[in-house]
Amino acid sequence: MRVLVVSTPVGSLGSGRGGGVELTATALVAGLLERGHRLTVLAGEGSRLPPACSGAALWCEAGVDQPSWQHRHRDAPVEIPVDGVLPKLWQRALLHQAGFDVIVNLAYDWLPIWLTPHTACPLAHLISMGSVGEAMDAVVAAVAQHHPEHFAFHTAAQAGDFSLPGAPRLVGNGFDLTRYHFAPSGDPLLGWAGRVAPEKGLEDAAAVAADLQMPLAVWGLEEDGAYARRVEASVPAGTIQWRGFLPTERLQQELGRCAVLLNTPKWNEAFGNVVVEAMACGVPVAAYARGGPGELVQEGTNGALAPPDDRHGLRLAVQRALAVPRAGCRRWVEQTCSQQAFAARIEAWLEAVVAAAADRAARGG
Ligand code: UDP
Repeated sequence: MRVLVVSTPVGSLGSGRGGGVELTATALVAGLLERGHRLTVLAGEGSRLPPACSGAALWCEAGVDQPSWQHRHRDAPVEIPVDGVLPKLWQRALLHQAGFDVIVNLAYDWLPIWLTPHTACPLAHLISMGSVGEAMDAVVAAVAQHHPEHFAFHTAAQAGDFSLPGAPRLVGNGFDLTRYHFAPSGDPLLGWAGRVAPEKGLEDAAAVAADLQMPLAVWGLEEDGAYARRVEASVPAGTIQWRGFLPTERLQQELGRCAVLLNTPKWNEAFGNVVVEAMACGVPVAAYARGGPGELVQEGTNGALAPPDDRHGLRLAVQRALAVPRAGCRRWVEQTCSQQAFAARIEAWLEAVVAAAADRAARGG
């Protein structure tokens, strides 16, 4: 297939501002290239693709970022800034649609979803978050009513947020496991990784680390500085070690030093890339049983679960996770989240989208 992948209108690929979508984009592109497809990536100006994606063409558009839906009120209207990059990406995609068999949308935005019934080339949407706004819920529900095949989700917990006419297509996520090295043992250090923003619940991980008198290394983009300072002030000095946002190569090296990774979502996390990345390095994960992490963490096999928002339960989960064999964590990732397995699931989904669109066209609507 000739596949056009339209990336997020929040930040450029490689900046970290797009969150987990950035890693998903590269796994999807590299995985489909490996399966013999022709790939073009359309993304924000300044985007970079890793060497595994060098077989793909990269088209960039400059413009103002979209505001992220997760940081707006639930009833916020659809908003496109002056000189926004989102319409520029889609103008370019529509201009070139005749050259592709399918367009994959990775943006959690109203415009591309609304376009679905109006394009000649079928549009396939990999939805990257759960429900965070009413306008998005409504457009997904309305379009999925007549184009259900055109949507895919990472986990059942995420898909459960949306009003869909049938069972959702679940594709999980994929990781290039050659980039993550297994570390057979860790240091007496807890870890936490993600965008530093309230929906990620860093304050709970910090409180548990303080309680256990263990340092907590924190990796990720500081999206909300005031929040970061509040969390820091809530625990004894020295509890948090800020490590900044690192590229995957260095992130995985440092992650592998952890005894346990804590994952503390306050929202219905769609997947939780960092959970799998830690496990790929052999690090068991202690997480709240909420959203994607609640499905990824298998008690005793790759970590331990605590009831959502229960700090005492999370402390107990960390203690159980410390006893989980590290080799089992890596093995679980190899079996379920490899880039190859993910690409095979994406390919099957895209074939179904193309077939459904052809069928609809044959029936004249
Ligand atoms: N990440 C990174 N460097 C860091 C910390 C995080 O590249 O120092 C990446 C990580 O690999 C993951 C993403 O940031 O892909 C966070 O994704 P996740 O699914 O955990 O959460 P999201 O940000 O999408 O809500």
